[in-house]
Amino acid sequence: MANLQGRIALVTGASQGIGRACALELARAGATVVLAARNEAKLAEAVAEIEAAGGQAAAFALDVSNEESIKAGAKAVLERFGKVEILVNNAGITRDGLMMSMKRADWDDVLGTNLTGAFLLTQALLRPMLKNRWGRIINISSVVGRTGQAGQVNYAASKAGLIGLTRSIAREVASRGITVNAVAPGYIETPMTAVLDEKQRTAMMAQIPLGRAGTDAEIAQSVAFLASDAAGYITGHVLDVNGGMFMGG
Ligand code: NDP
Repeated sequence: MANLQGRIALVTGASQGIGRACALELARAGATVVLAARNEAKLAEAVAEIEAAGGQAAAFALDVSNEESIKAGAKAVLERFGKVEILVNNAGITRDGLMMSMKRADWDDVLGTNLTGAFLLTQALLRPMLKNRWGRIINISSVVGRTGQAGQVNYAASKAGLIGLTRSIAREVASRGITVNAVAPGYIETPMTAVLDEKQRTAMMAQIPLGRAGTDAEIAQSVAFLASDAAGYITGHVLDVNGGMFMGG
């Protein structure tokens, strides 16, 4: 297991699914974890689970689609903890539809949450990280950001955009001891994918060489590795965690 003793981490979208699993895993590895999302009741429940296991955590209500909320949330977190050393930009939404019929609002919502949210929050937390001369930024992309996906032009563009964002920031901050990487999950069983019907599920499974869906814990373990000192020489990388659905390139 990664050793993150004494580190301060922030995970967006930590109220459920992959973000929640990341918060639990980082806390298990010893980090103090700030859990950020909109649903305060679910955040409080996740914090309680971490504390019950002997970990340290705090919940902050944060809407990554809202610039004011990001600024206020980042300020409050920095006032309380002084810095964030490990930032996991995980919050994400889908608003699926075919290109020809996709509404502008669905494009804007998905890009605003998935890509602009990560840009703004990273910007808001970067200065103390630069001063600290150690940091880890991990952006949760997606296999569809690598391959494209019919019916998901907005989502796939946001996830491909996160890869460009990752690699560009990685180049800008490398000299300050900060690594910036992306994790690109394949098909993971979470509330986001629970809405898929049986036909969609079967079609998805047929594309996975390992023959099963992934778990949120498997994504969380990859995130914890990238956050650790053991991954100190890895930056600008996209770690595919997808059961072989898409094999690098
Ligand atoms: P879920 O829908 O289960 O969880 C999404 C999380 O994002 C929730 O905690 C939600 O919290 C949060 N969130 C959404 N909008 C906002 C917002 N405006 N501000 C703050 N938080 C927000 O999704 P998953 O756990 O499945 O997905 C997590 C990430 O992994 C996403 O970026 C997704 O695109 C990506 N991913 C998932 C895959 C999968 O198969 N599940 C595959 C590839 C990538 P709240 O509602 O409380 O704000």
